Amino acid sequence: MPEKLQLVAKNCYIYRAGDSPVAIHVYLSQKLRADFTEAEALEQLYNASLLPGVVGPVIGMPDIHTGYGLPIGGVMAADYERGVVSAGAVGMDINCGVRLLTTRIPAAEIERAILTKLLAAIARRVPAGVGRVSQVKELRRASLEAVAAGGARYFIQEGFGRGEDRERIEDGGCLSGADVAAVSKEARERADQLATIGGGNHFVEIGKVAAVLEEGLAARFGLHKDHLYILIHTGSRGLGHQICTDYSNLMWANGEQNGTPAPVKGLACAPIASRDGQNYLKGMALAANYAFANRQLITHFIREAFVEVLKKPEEDLGLDLLYDVAHNIAKKEKHGAKWLLVHRKGATRALPAGHGDNPGCYLATGHPAIIPGSMGTASYVVVGTGEINKTFCSVNHGAGRVMSRKKARQEFSREDLLNQLGGVVVAARDIKFLKDEAPLAYKDIDAVVATLAEAGLTRPVVRLQPLGVLKG
Ligand code: 5GP
Ligand code: MN
Ligand code: MN
Repeated sequence: MPEKLQLVAKNCYIYRAGDSPVAIHVYLSQKLRADFTEAEALEQLYNASLLPGVVGPVIGMPDIHTGYGLPIGGVMAADYERGVVSAGAVGMDINCGVRLLTTRIPAAEIERAILTKLLAAIARRVPAGVGRVSQVKELRRASLEAVAAGGARYFIQEGFGRGEDRERIEDGGCLSGADVAAVSKEARERADQLATIGGGNHFVEIGKVAAVLEEGLAARFGLHKDHLYILIHTGSRGLGHQICTDYSNLMWANGEQNGTPAPVKGLACAPIASRDGQNYLKGMALAANYAFANRQLITHFIREAFVEVLKKPEEDLGLDLLYDVAHNIAKKEKHGAKWLLVHRKGATRALPAGHGDNPGCYLATGHPAIIPGSMGTASYVVVGTGEINKTFCSVNHGAGRVMSRKKARQEFSREDLLNQLGGVVVAARDIKFLKDEAPLAYKDIDAVVATLAEAGLTRPVVRLQPLGVLKG
């Protein structure tokens, strides 16, 4: 399979397969190309390229690995008039995403014991683990209609955040068109998980800015060397999962009838303009707003935890929201002269400087795109350059797995994991459950981030280093 990859530009390969009607591009550095074994993920990009109305190129990001239907690290854009929407191509965890908080706290002031206390204070407020529900009764019963209408904004208004947070969330923390009536009773019943992290790959991480790579941008973003940061990674929890499952089944069952049969169930789709397509987009927007709200509430509780443990006023600590990005979502966007529905699954939007969809505060710089690495290695903040239109303004969403969860659990012992963590403080039920999250189960984040930077698509702004992490 890999011999079908032909280098066409720096770190950019064309995947030549079958009778694909549109181009398939895969971004890999020399090192990632040499280690590349993801034949199945390439096949998934090929399948996506066959869907009605898909506009080229279909893109594999440097963190690409096999997923359900579309690979993780996949971007698929469809013509908004003629094309399809696919629930599987958005992903199970609708609007899974990351947000980063900056602080005025020098890392040197935070000893291990304090770090442990901070993680514990966060864990008391923000449950972690599969299936956990909100700590606060009112949040378990929060009105889904209010979440649909306001997303993160609703809770900011209710006192769970600062006015300025609103601008620092993709789409202002609220997609329009969300509708509770578009989702099943099962889905609605799973909406009792606001302000929870979820299992495995989701986390709250405290770390320090290890290296400043673009001084001007870092300063504008409030990212200062050796200051603490907080990274939050979670999504729409059971609600999003159920909505994806329901619509994936529906699109698969109605594929013939809608005139959009898919090659595999994971790519089951419906015309954007159809009833099924429109209803999915209403449900997806609901889950997206739920996820924005979830990360907002977690932010609020983290601020509270820091104030409690460090006994300083919030203003002195900073804890400012840098940005919140979605990495499992479909968006109506204009690229060139065309309106498209861009599916980003395990891919992050990175609008360049001057792009009108940036919030005002980032119009001159391009908004920060946040790229987590692993619980023991670096993470990055990057911005898109003027060349980023080659990927429909998308970058990778992480390091990406090199090993399945199952393989990682077999491969690594508890001791291996501790060694790989190199002293990062871990708050979790039991570290032995985190073997599938071992740093070596993921690709080398430095090589992954370098791929798009060398291709001229991104500029890395800072490199982040984890100190402590709360995991499910
Ligand atoms: P996903 O959304 O695909 O589950 O995860 C996104 C990315 O997060 C992964 O590709 C991986 O690189 C990164 N990641 C997973 N766990 C951690 C963690 O504990 N800390 C950080 N910084 N990154 C992580
Ligand atoms: Mn995610
Ligand atoms: Mn997720």
